[in-house]
Amino acid sequence: MTTQKIKILDPAEAIKIAAGEVIERPAHIVKELIENSIDAGAKNITLHLQNAGKNFIKITDDGCGMSPLDAKLCFAHHATSKISNVHDLQTIATYGFRGEALSSIACVSNVVLITKTEQEKAATSIKLEQAKLIEQTQTSHPTGTTLVISHLFDNVPARKKFLKSDETEWNLIVTIIQAFALRYPNINFKIFHHDTMAFNCPATDKIQTRSAQLWNNNLHEQLLELEPASEGCITISGAISDVHYARFNRGQIFTFVNNRWVKNSELLKGILKGYDGVLPLQKFPAAFIFITIDPQEIDINIHPKKEEIKFLHPSVVQRMIELSVKNCLGMQIKKKLEDDAPKILPTPATFKAPIISKIITPARAAAMPQIPELPSFDPFYQEENYPPPTPQINTTIYDDQPYSIVGQFKKTYIMIEKSEQLIIIDQHAAHERILYQRFKAQKTEVATVQLLFPHIAKLPTDEIKILHNYQKLFKDHGILFDEFSEQEIIIQATPVEMSAQSAEDIIKTVLQWLQREQNLSDDELFAELHEKVLAEKACKAACKAGDALNHEQMQNILNELQVTQNNFCCPHGRPTMWSLSCKEIEKHFKRDYAGAKFTF
Ligand code: ADP
Ligand code: MG
Repeated sequence: MTTQKIKILDPAEAIKIAAGEVIERPAHIVKELIENSIDAGAKNITLHLQNAGKNFIKITDDGCGMSPLDAKLCFAHHATSKISNVHDLQTIATYGFRGEALSSIACVSNVVLITKTEQEKAATSIKLEQAKLIEQTQTSHPTGTTLVISHLFDNVPARKKFLKSDETEWNLIVTIIQAFALRYPNINFKIFHHDTMAFNCPATDKIQTRSAQLWNNNLHEQLLELEPASEGCITISGAISDVHYARFNRGQIFTFVNNRWVKNSELLKGILKGYDGVLPLQKFPAAFIFITIDPQEIDINIHPKKEEIKFLHPSVVQRMIELSVKNCLGMQIKKKLEDDAPKILPTPATFKAPIISKIITPARAAAMPQIPELPSFDPFYQEENYPPPTPQINTTIYDDQPYSIVGQFKKTYIMIEKSEQLIIIDQHAAHERILYQRFKAQKTEVATVQLLFPHIAKLPTDEIKILHNYQKLFKDHGILFDEFSEQEIIIQATPVEMSAQSAEDIIKTVLQWLQREQNLSDDELFAELHEKVLAEKACKAACKAGDALNHEQMQNILNELQVTQNNFCCPHGRPTMWSLSCKEIEKHFKRDYAGAKFTF
């Protein structure tokens, strides 16, 4: 007996299913509607939402509007004014082109459309319930379009059930609004949620102003504009946060390709690489990156909602972004130092390879049994031999301007006097940065010392199990250990710069971090772990606050710092130096009051 399992879906059901694939949540509606308004040339877009759009979405724009005929037609399937055949796809400059947003929205909700073109005297009002035309009348409305969406997913309970909390849905909408607002600073966006104004973004031509409209933190003060760069068919522009700004997540990283906000891991990597070694681990910058590229070089259709794209040559774009970011951060530091008068630091463009450190504090020296690659610094170790911190004028640093070391303050800061500035350097942060860059540059095997007395560290059994997979990584960094018992590991060797206790501390910090970062891919994890171990190693090996430094040791730190990459902050992002101008000091002492100098 023959059986038939296949049946043709009722068209009404098929349409609902297809619509549900385009429109899964209120955020998708918001996105499609804003895109349509922008395509229509709107300069003012206002949104009103209730319950994160679940119950009510209203958008009003002052775009070109639609004629009565178009108003009716726009809800039909594949109704679009933007392309007429597949060839048009190659030159498409608008957001929409499939003609499926409005038809899909209409299938899963009730819609009221009011729209008027400049030519028409009266506006057209159309009411649909689940895609059925209920009413078409004339009404009044300025040129432009208003759409009201309600009863969302009433006819698709499965979709309704999968909506997240209002808070989650609202956050998705916020990100979409932020992306459009960043891309179109010249459009006035107003967003109301539950009748209160959530965003008020009057048109501006400054990205800083737009940022201040969107985030009420100090990001706008720390936003640096990228020098526009172009290479072949790719151009890059945008703005990024400076090195002192950091976030716990990637929520302020927005990338745009040919005007579309897109998510792409290569672009993200490019940005993060640009900040490599500048921001603390697990901290993120803010970045708004705008890329234009030959459409032939990308595949935008891999994602039905057009949020993800693929590049034909991802590494080219990634490298361009990385360089743009690095260049921008370097320029900022250069400018800051020029403004501040003392010119002590090089820009990243002039970075040289780090030289072998001669900085060993007595405390650190004790922890180092042998330092084969370093010349003997015996005189430095002996406290009684410390030369008095007499200022050495004429010592040059970077730009050949003389400076002198004033001394060490609280065994923590190195003070330098240079032209009209008092420069204060955090000895630990500076040394940490120097060591970090050096460890990073070391391509050869790390010099390790076998411990005379292996060090036993207690750890919970489950943590020892986790560690098992990362033994090789630690070994690559010169930390050799083995399982000793169910609750103990035995550390047998450490890098020359490191004590056994420090090695234990590093293992424990990395463990904590591993437990927090369970959703990273192996590659990402290893890359991050590598950075983490490097930073921890540098931190442990660097001289500490409280270590007395003699003059030559201070001098060595300064000499090395000037040829070290990213020397303006430590690997955790803390600044390495701070300067106080003579003017500021004088002002404090009221020495320059109304132009008259007091002399006492
Ligand atoms: P698409 O944007 O892919 O063309 P949509 O379903 O989003 O498809 O919209 C269908 C058509 O309706 C558009 O091509 C456009 O002509 C018209 N339209 C939609 N929204 C607006 C608007 N806000 N202002 C003017 N015309 C609009
Ligand atoms: Mg559209």
